[in-house]
Amino acid sequence: MGQYDVVIVGGGLAGLTTSIYLAKAGLSVMVLEKAKQLGGRSLTVNKSGALLNLGVHALYRDGAGETILRELGVELKGANPPASAGAMWNNRVYTLPSKPLELIASRLFSFSEKMELTRLMLRLGKMDPNRIGQISLKEWAEREIRHPMLRHVVYSVSRANSFVPHPELHLAGPAIRQLQRTFGGKAFYIDGGWGALVDDLRERAIRAGVAITRQKKAVEVEHDGTVRRIRCADGDTIETRHVVITAGPKEACDLVKNADSTSLTKWKAAAKPIRAACLDLVLHRLPDRGSNFIAGFWLDQPIFYNFPSTVAKLSDDGSVVIHLIKHLGMHESEPETDLLQLEKAMDLVQPGWRKEEIARQFLPNLTVSHDFNRVDKSGVCHGPAIPEVRGLYVAGDWTGHGELLADASFASAKRAAQSIIADNRSRRGELNVGEGKII
Ligand SMILES: Cc1cc2nc3c(=O)[nH]c(=O)nc-3n(C[C@H](O)[C@H](O)[C@H](O)COP(=O)(O)OP(=O)(O)OC[C@H]3O[C@@H](n4cnc5c(N)ncnc54)[C@H](O)[C@@H]3O)c2cc1C
Repeated sequence: MGQYDVVIVGGGLAGLTTSIYLAKAGLSVMVLEKAKQLGGRSLTVNKSGALLNLGVHALYRDGAGETILRELGVELKGANPPASAGAMWNNRVYTLPSKPLELIASRLFSFSEKMELTRLMLRLGKMDPNRIGQISLKEWAEREIRHPMLRHVVYSVSRANSFVPHPELHLAGPAIRQLQRTFGGKAFYIDGGWGALVDDLRERAIRAGVAITRQKKAVEVEHDGTVRRIRCADGDTIETRHVVITAGPKEACDLVKNADSTSLTKWKAAAKPIRAACLDLVLHRLPDRGSNFIAGFWLDQPIFYNFPSTVAKLSDDGSVVIHLIKHLGMHESEPETDLLQLEKAMDLVQPGWRKEEIARQFLPNLTVSHDFNRVDKSGVCHGPAIPEVRGLYVAGDWTGHGELLADASFASAKRAAQSIIADNRSRRGELNVGEGKII
């Protein structure tokens, strides 16, 4: 399959982003994607004419992702949802107040809780998350929030926006930064789903000269302390001096010859993936008796829902897209029980929804992130370079340097590209030009 300056394993957000930076810097780049489609976990699936992401997906504006997309010229189309959320507690639906009048009228909170909530929101808005120190979200909440009910609200919103249902392990600083973004209205739903973002990145990669190959699985990165070539499952080999792996830490280890003698093995052992069970629904319309909150937080169960189609264009015929998620965190999935729990949750907020159902996808055990910002990691960051093998890099959500989720994928992709560009400058070699098409 020839020779490229850089081969990238994976055609998700991280792989495509890395490829664009590198190709724009004049390097010849090939992306290998083992699946039929590009996108990885940012795929969007068409079900009966409606566009479903793999579970609830919101891009948080003002982070690394938005900055990098802007830098690459990607224009985001979609909308920020208005503050309209429900809170579920003891099998009842309440409004989660976002305005003073709603707070006064709220039946969810006592007078004393309302007073503390007002003070808490003011304080949260002004806090500098970098100055919180290496404590967990739980430790912070127990120190700062007197009423247990308000702690439930903080934990529920935090797990919905970070997918981490472990406040005892979740590092407080990044968790609070993400809360500030949520309360600051930074969540953004993309027209056409996240697949539209993938399509846009793919187009830009091709225009920049990247060769993209689908249904091509990398099986081994060969090296002798310096990257030499990459082998594919179909027997092809590609000569290269740089490889960027955007798969998770376990797959990365499996790919690299003698991974045991590299940092990758240590990183794999330390990573704690977080998972989720997702029920994604397409309905003709919302049932009459249902609530019309755009998002809903269960305070007493690790469940969340949103209706992105209220603000983003996800169908042509007005059908409604709903994402329900059960945060499994580090726990095992129990597909049958989890599905029943999600359907029951839906019964509570949208009684009568079953008659309106057009299509669904149930994804019982998705890895949302291969690792998260944990208090026990105490500032340890992975990548972009694998120090023991010259020319080998990692990118993806588990290689964030404080960022989370897609922001970590984007930011690590840029770090990997910058390191390769710098390394390439320090080496001599001929440049090959990619073919710039999807093979
Ligand atoms: C249910 C769910 C909800 C989410 N919600 C949000 C959200 O609201 N906000 C947010 O910011 N993020 C969210 N995320 C996370 C976001 O989707 C991911 O961070 C992002 O898609 C990861 O991109 P990536 O390129 O790093 O990894 P991936 O998307 O996993 O891409 C890796 C690619 O590598 C390919 N690959 C692996 N091994 C090989 C091999 N050997 N050879 C060739 N190809 C290979 C895979 O097929 C895959 O396409 C969510 C994720 C899930 C699952």
